[in-house]
Amino acid sequence: MPVSFSPTRCHVNLAAIKRNFQRLGAPGALMPVIKSDAYGHGLLPVAGILDEAGARSFAIGGASEGEELRNAGFGQRLLLLTGCRTPDDWETAALYGLLPLVNDFKNLEMGAACPHNLEIAIKCDSGMGRLGFGKDDIPAIAEKIRNSSNLKPVMAVSHFASSDMPEDAEYAAGQMAAFEDFARALAQIFPAIGRSLGNSAAALGLPDAAYDVLRPGLAIYGGNPFFGTSRENAGAGLEWAMSISTPILQVKRLAKGQSVSYGRIFRALRDMDVAVVSCGYSQGLARGLSGRCDMLVRGRRVPQIGRICMSMCMLDVSSMPDAAPGELAWPLGGPAAAETSPVDAWELAMKLDTVPYELLCLMGSLNLREYENN
Ligand SMILES: *Cc1c(COP(=O)(O)O)cnc(C)c1O
Repeated sequence: MPVSFSPTRCHVNLAAIKRNFQRLGAPGALMPVIKSDAYGHGLLPVAGILDEAGARSFAIGGASEGEELRNAGFGQRLLLLTGCRTPDDWETAALYGLLPLVNDFKNLEMGAACPHNLEIAIKCDSGMGRLGFGKDDIPAIAEKIRNSSNLKPVMAVSHFASSDMPEDAEYAAGQMAAFEDFARALAQIFPAIGRSLGNSAAALGLPDAAYDVLRPGLAIYGGNPFFGTSRENAGAGLEWAMSISTPILQVKRLAKGQSVSYGRIFRALRDMDVAVVSCGYSQGLARGLSGRCDMLVRGRRVPQIGRICMSMCMLDVSSMPDAAPGELAWPLGGPAAAETSPVDAWELAMKLDTVPYELLCLMGSLNLREYENN
């Protein structure tokens, strides 16, 4: 539920999502990942623009996302990444024609007990150490499926652990070998089996991992998985789709020696102008960024000062003392003047020792979203 009392807004540029999708390859070779409310960008609007761009399949998180997409009229193949956890989930998958991942024998048995015919995808753990079967499980998988007769495996799926780390290329190659082994063994029993392994990093930097369909997530939303690595160029041209705006509530003159916000960690070393803006940690601006981030105001960067509060924080606007209430500050993205770069999700993520995925999910889901198409 977005914090509707807050005037902070999450702006999503759907045209950027479309261009990112087009940059990653042919529509038929891509299954964009729109789990977790499309990484905070909004499930239905993102599915809509990708549909317009020709997407034929989507990877989603839970069965309820599949239900929502079907009710909105989407006919794409929908791969259910977390599979079906309950008999009800299996019913939902059958009713809405979802493609659940099956990751262990209990799960397979529950599916076999579902009184409907269903296509399924088989999850292989090729080295992520998360969900999935190993190659040695295949004979038992085959036997259970043959005995059940309602389940039809159509795809083998696995996931890279470190494909965004060029220095770990050998591990990725090992995962590819393990996945190919698994898929080959499965295809001996179910010949029509398709293969899907790669994420954004593979789509941009591992052409051998394309197989039948790639599953890019972050890159669709503009994030370069190779940022800060030797292969950063592989993600050139991606455009962030999300930006966050927040209005200035008050601008005040602070005398030398006065402090700002909780704990008084900031003291004015000279007379200065301070803007209070309507964005804090309940809008996803992590308190750990206090005194360590910038925002754009009038296209230029100004430093955030003092502790970030629950739904406000302060900016040093001494460089533009006529800034006025109602003007917008941009903690993420926004219109930048020449020679100025907007704050992006990687910049904030590095400061917080996290990844842009987390920031996009939080800022996107905590704030009311507005959509643009340019
Ligand atoms: C989230 C996810 C992806 C997408 O990964 P990105 O790094 O965002 O491209 C692909 N496959 C699975 C199984 C995932 O969970």
